[in-house]
Amino acid sequence: MAIRKIREMGDDVLAKSCKEVTKMTLRTQILINDMLDTMYEAMGVGLAAPQVGVLKRIVVIDVGDGPLILINPEILETSGEQTGEEGCLSVPGKSGTVTRPNYVKVKALNEEMEEVVLEGEGLLARAFCHEIDHLDGKMYVELVEGELHDVNYGEDD
Ligand code: ZN
Repeated sequence: MAIRKIREMGDDVLAKSCKEVTKMTLRTQILINDMLDTMYEAMGVGLAAPQVGVLKRIVVIDVGDGPLILINPEILETSGEQTGEEGCLSVPGKSGTVTRPNYVKVKALNEEMEEVVLEGEGLLARAFCHEIDHLDGKMYVELVEGELHDVNYGEDD
């Protein structure tokens, strides 16, 4: 188990476009495992490789239904709309309101470098959009309607 340092907004690596993965190597396999460990440790629902400083088109997502690993993901189709709170492990302690499609269909490669098509609604659709944006150097804060605000960590509980 290896936890990698999560890069925060302002780090140049988060503004860069990532390169396609052309073959699975031991190094990439280790990266994916570390990304999962890092996401779970930070209690996130998704993490993109540039967030740990690696400019490869890889994202990991887990919205509570088990880990998804997407290599070279591409959005094929979107529909509907959802407006809700969004946060990012690279912008700790903050969240903001973002409108995203409510349904997203994605094509990607899995860890065996086989093509898979995944569909998501609600939170999963949001996670697909958010994480894939990271691969093109885009941060959700550019999409926030109104102001970014501090996350309330349940002090009222
Ligand atoms: Zn993010």
